[in-house]
Amino acid sequence: MPQLDRRTLGAAMLASTLGAGLASAPMRADAASATPPPVVVRRRVGRFEVSFLLDGYIDFPYALFTGIAPDVLEGAARGLHIARPTGVRTGFTQWLIRDERHTVLVDAGPAGTVSPTSGRLPRALAALGVRPDAVSAVVATHLHVDHIAGLVAGGQRVFRNAEVFADRRDVAHFTDPAKAAAAPDLLKSSFRAASELVRLYPRLQRIDGARTILPGVTTFDLAGHTPGQIGVRIEDGGESLLLVADMLFHPGLHPAHPGIGILFEQDRAAADASRARFFDQAASEGALLAATHMPYPGVGRIVRAGNSLAWQPADFDYAA
Ligand SMILES: [Zn+2]
Repeated sequence: MPQLDRRTLGAAMLASTLGAGLASAPMRADAASATPPPVVVRRRVGRFEVSFLLDGYIDFPYALFTGIAPDVLEGAARGLHIARPTGVRTGFTQWLIRDERHTVLVDAGPAGTVSPTSGRLPRALAALGVRPDAVSAVVATHLHVDHIAGLVAGGQRVFRNAEVFADRRDVAHFTDPAKAAAAPDLLKSSFRAASELVRLYPRLQRIDGARTILPGVTTFDLAGHTPGQIGVRIEDGGESLLLVADMLFHPGLHPAHPGIGILFEQDRAAADASRARFFDQAASEGALLAATHMPYPGVGRIVRAGNSLAWQPADFDYAA
């Protein structure tokens, strides 16, 4: 039998502590699986703290993507080790931007509408100590339901004191009864959610691409995925981060293939062209980006890789 020295004694004590923890683990695991803890990552951009909140996730079926046959896409996903039986898994990330005086939410998630795993945003906000009433502004990057459903709950507005910013073109498009009637079933919930948003938020600001939300937080035009998609630029103290929503959303094939889109895009040519333009520009600028559906927390850069482009995840901001 080996001598028990200080180190092995320490290891034995640690093991028994862990053992004690494990003994009570089943109860905790049950509780945890019933209510998964909120997922939040934070990052500093100058004076701002940016929190990356996860409302949930979905497996996008291969047949939803455009510009590539479903079986080819599934084969590519297999090659990249990101194929799941039900499609390609992606998250729904929202962003909370705070400085000493402001609390701005960018997008509000699907809130259970398109995926049963979604609807976790309220708990993520609570975990950060943010009451919905304390949110001073909400920017809707575009009016697809997976970005705005969380603005409304039970027929009431969730963020009672917030001004809501959305692009004028998206508001016009998604509240047009003729367009709603002609829209494919897939998109009908977005038209409904947009109309509800307009009805319940009297302080909705219809913006024209670029707008200063507060000093250091501005919107910019990213039209293509929808008629009025916008991004949000956070800039302070020589640092910047661009929240680019659905400019890229395929975890394996964007940004290398800008011609791959999704059926939700009503003007495919415009969407493809905007991706090609933006991907090239972002690679040239080396801009730090955050995208809703890229692997969580979805922060990274578009970089040149030979004649192609690649997604380079950013390092983790341990200090935030
Ligand atoms: Zn989306």
